[in-house]
Amino acid sequence: MIRMSQVKVSVRLLLKCLPVQDARQGIITVAEERLVIQAAAKVLGIQADEVRNFVIRKKSLDARKKNGREDNIYYIYQVELSCNNEQKLVKRYGRNDVVFIPGNEKEKLLGSLLSFINKNIRNVNALNLNSNKNKRVIVAGMGPAGLFAALVLARAGFNPVVLERGKEVKERQRVVNGFWNGDTLNPECNVQFGEGGAGTFSDGKLNTLVKDKDGFNRMVLKTFAEFGAPSEILYLQKPHIGTDRLAGVVEAMRNEIIKLGGTVYFNTRLDGVIYKDGCISGVRVTKITGNGICGESREINCSHLILAIGHSARDTFYNLDSDGLYMEPKAFAIGIRIEHPQDIIGYSQYGELYKKLPAADYKLSYNTKDGRGVYSFCMCPGGYVVNASSEPGRLVVNGMSNYARDGRNANSAIVVTVSPEDFDGKGPLAGIEFQRKWEEEAYRQAGGKIPVQLFGDFCNNVKSTGFGGIIPDMKGGYAFANTRAVLPVVIGNLVEEGIMQFGKRIKGYSREDAVISGIESRTSSPVRITRDKGLQANIHGIYPCGEGAGYAGGITSAAADGIRVALAVINS
Ligand SMILES: Cc1cc2nc3c(=O)[nH]c(=O)nc-3n(C[C@H](O)[C@H](O)[C@H](O)COP(=O)(O)OP(=O)(O)OC[C@H]3O[C@@H](n4cnc5c(N)ncnc54)[C@H](O)[C@@H]3O)c2cc1C
Repeated sequence: MIRMSQVKVSVRLLLKCLPVQDARQGIITVAEERLVIQAAAKVLGIQADEVRNFVIRKKSLDARKKNGREDNIYYIYQVELSCNNEQKLVKRYGRNDVVFIPGNEKEKLLGSLLSFINKNIRNVNALNLNSNKNKRVIVAGMGPAGLFAALVLARAGFNPVVLERGKEVKERQRVVNGFWNGDTLNPECNVQFGEGGAGTFSDGKLNTLVKDKDGFNRMVLKTFAEFGAPSEILYLQKPHIGTDRLAGVVEAMRNEIIKLGGTVYFNTRLDGVIYKDGCISGVRVTKITGNGICGESREINCSHLILAIGHSARDTFYNLDSDGLYMEPKAFAIGIRIEHPQDIIGYSQYGELYKKLPAADYKLSYNTKDGRGVYSFCMCPGGYVVNASSEPGRLVVNGMSNYARDGRNANSAIVVTVSPEDFDGKGPLAGIEFQRKWEEEAYRQAGGKIPVQLFGDFCNNVKSTGFGGIIPDMKGGYAFANTRAVLPVVIGNLVEEGIMQFGKRIKGYSREDAVISGIESRTSSPVRITRDKGLQANIHGIYPCGEGAGYAGGITSAAADGIRVALAVINS
């Protein structure tokens, strides 16, 4: 087999044969595949009809060298194929973007690992894993980490018990939409808490910077596709599911876990751990009723606990800290969210062609004079700014998009890393208090609504009184305020400096009427729960997992950590 990683097809040529809808989503059509086969054959100096077993593995859009000319925008494909004289052709081509893969070795390995995990994990004994079925495994939290951990355990026949403080996804959507339309915040079921976790109301971006040495990232994508995510996530360089499609995928995974013997308790909050001689023996849980009211508490025995509670489970971090679970403060980032018309981002990235291509995104970073970095985070093309609060009297924003990414605005967080030195207090939970302080300021600034301000006024530290050419696209009420005041002074200065610099890279990025909202403070966990090589905490049998525990950032890496931890429990 031959693997080629730089097969180029000009976007202009491609758009001639692609229906606009497919082009906008990056979906590969038969006509497109034919063009890519011709391009690959041309590189190898053979006829297209000599190509066999053709597969497109990756597809990405490259507009870096466009220099104002749309002819210079290409799709780059990674493909695999077979044909006659493979080794001779590769040798003749002589560059490393075309390699000969003997007998499909890597794929066999990768293939077998995946099918091994997927297919054979149901029969662990066949794998001589020294596991025993008497393990009573509890998974706390049903975000990507908890969901994938529970699925792997269920597929291995371990009948996991899953605890989720929030509601099942459909009910959760009703509660969250109610909140965005003015209902009181439910502190147990909101954008952070509930089935599917924090990522359920998101853009569902699945790309991750975490290296995939175990093949778990690939397994996450395959599993999402298996449960109904759009199949192009398996080959797009920047795959995304969109909030409107993610909910169905989460529900299907939950049903599979239950079908395989798992049990899911919604509206059930883990409040503490019980252990003897340094080993976990059970958990304390509280039933949540109505609008987040605490009901009866009870204890549930277990031999293993996977703690996948996310970065916003602050009350639980306090309980676990007082129960003696070791944790330490961790750096994260804070800032604001900025909105621009999606058109100016599209035009800046792709020229006139942007109307026919997937909604353009951007990734920006800048090192300020005093050596601190300002960067864009969780950019949502054609998306919404959302009120992502989870605690009464504290306000936080984030971003989301639907699968189509067809909203009028592009938005992104512009953030600066803060570390324990920046936190006012000391101790493992000082980062939480730092977040709370500034989220309270954000709540105060606009009386509980999302504080908004134009960039020009942000620079002058004054409250805005009217919009310019950009009307915000938000989920949740908003009001004019001095949004700059929701940030520590030094962070406000750095964010301003960064946006000014980004205005030199994307025309119109630092325009005076760009809309600023805040605070963006839940970029990752302010805590790390320490774990050893066996992925266990200081209390034996507890497995800190995912973003909340400080071992992941984003949907895919959290889900991959869920797989990793579940296998550690199976093999323990
Ligand atoms: C609005 C928004 C948009 C985002 N967009 C993206 C994106 O496009 N792409 C991306 O990669 N990442 C995105 N993220 C980040 C991503 O959602 C997280 O990185 C990811 O969900 C972390 O997964 P997790 O399973 O570790 O934790 P979480 O998803 O936070 O899940 C934790 C779960 O634990 C539950 N829980 C908490 N405490 C308890 C308790 N005491 N007892 C029982 N259950 C409990 C919570 O209710 C929650 O369901 C976004 C986040 C938000 C908020």
